[in-house]
Amino acid sequence: MTNTASKPTVAVVGGGLAGLAAAATAAEHGLHVELFEQGETLGGRAGSFRDPQTGQLVDYCQHVAMGCCTNLADFCRRTGVADCFGRYRRLHFFAPDGTRHDFAPAGWLPAPLHLVPGLMRLRYFTLGERWDIARALWWLAREPLAGGDDETIGEWLCRNGQSARAIEQFWSVVLLSALSETVDRASLAAAKKVFVDGLLAHAQAYELLVPQLPLGEIFDRRVAAWLADRNVVIHQGTRVKQIDGDARRATAVVLPDGTRRQFDFIVVAVPWRRVCALFPESMLAAMPALRRVEGIQPAPITAVHLWFNRPITRLPHATLVGRLSQWIFEGQYLQVVISGSHGVAGREREDILAEVRRDLEAVWAEARGARLLHWRVITRPAAVFSARPGLEKIRPDQHTPVENLMLAGDWTATGWPATMEGAVRSGYLAVEAVLRSLGRNERLLVPDLPRGRLVRWMLG
Ligand SMILES: Cc1cc2nc3c(=O)[nH]c(=O)nc-3n(C[C@H](O)[C@H](O)[C@H](O)COP(=O)(O)OP(=O)(O)OC[C@H]3O[C@@H](n4cnc5c(N)ncnc54)[C@H](O)[C@@H]3O)c2cc1C
Repeated sequence: MTNTASKPTVAVVGGGLAGLAAAATAAEHGLHVELFEQGETLGGRAGSFRDPQTGQLVDYCQHVAMGCCTNLADFCRRTGVADCFGRYRRLHFFAPDGTRHDFAPAGWLPAPLHLVPGLMRLRYFTLGERWDIARALWWLAREPLAGGDDETIGEWLCRNGQSARAIEQFWSVVLLSALSETVDRASLAAAKKVFVDGLLAHAQAYELLVPQLPLGEIFDRRVAAWLADRNVVIHQGTRVKQIDGDARRATAVVLPDGTRRQFDFIVVAVPWRRVCALFPESMLAAMPALRRVEGIQPAPITAVHLWFNRPITRLPHATLVGRLSQWIFEGQYLQVVISGSHGVAGREREDILAEVRRDLEAVWAEARGARLLHWRVITRPAAVFSARPGLEKIRPDQHTPVENLMLAGDWTATGWPATMEGAVRSGYLAVEAVLRSLGRNERLLVPDLPRGRLVRWMLG
């Protein structure tokens, strides 16, 4: 083994959450880790930038997690940043007519019945529509997916008698938030996962975890310091140009200046659209599954950052139903998130801003007449992968056919949508594979929230 002080050595390529999770667990399990990140900061897509006008550290886009994100929670506990997230048990929906409807499942009822009182309080639906939604949730949970993964959730909802209004104002609202994808594109399998894991399976699954600090402070500063304390060598601003090797072994990480660094294991944790370019033909030929990831489609997310001269709402977050502005977050300034923003591409920024302001003014009196001091619109065209039918068949396993080469990244086979949770899971699974290669069968993946008897019965 190439070694430093006899520890097996691991190179992690990519300092997003997948790479950070891999680096953290590998270091904790006695491996010597070096992390290569091409950017100047860690956190990848879950990152921040310094806004030149206000001087504030601003997230490219507000990120939230949920109670069902057990591995992200474990990663944050391990690295000492769990207290950087606030937990919210009440969600605030504003109906198209501007009325507010709070959603708070009943903790005293066993899952999945805990949802019933919250659902019944969504009075912008008729009683009949609420009943139809509840019934369809039940059927979705019991859906065997016998036809494989080739149907969209939109087709399934129509087949199961959901009205256009229920689709637009309930199903789309949840799925856009969770998958950043529209119902006519998202797969039935991905939607089932969202509703089962995120709502039905456990009374705390739906709880919202919102970072109370900029993501850059959490991942680029605090987690980086934690890693450095555990002797992880972090190379920021260092792009990996290529991974050398053959069909059997990855031999080196090659940097742009030609430097070749040898490691016992290499974990590649870059986005799916960058991964194939890192390997020579001889290695790609040994990994046919990897070539297929080029078929994964992206989905866009737009964040509108607004600095007003006064707060617009006292709510820390809210969901606006039936509007361009889907989620708003009020903190050091106001942020509006538009997920699955396919329709926004190509529109002028001023035009997007004007519609967002109309949305805010329709819901909050404080927005009318508030002075806008500064604003930014940031669209990430490839924010996440699109969870379309057939996707699960092309997501590769973390352990590749090349014996010492592992993959991580939200796009690898985790069963999760493109989320921080999916990224952390992939990093844990990659390190599990490294440990297995060393003859150590240690489990790092944290189980899902426990499912009660009623949930197990519902799921058949
Ligand atoms: C706008 C937006 C909003 C989102 N909202 C949410 C949300 O609310 N909740 C949620 O859970 N998730 C959300 N996500 C998704 C979440 O950010 C991602 O799923 C997750 O951060 C992906 O982590 P990753 O490590 O797999 O990939 P990335 O974060 O993309 O990290 C990959 C890293 O690899 C580096 N890299 C690439 N090539 C090289 C190379 N050759 N050498 C060295 N380094 C390289 C990149 O610079 C990057 O830092 C959002 C994403 C976006 C973009």
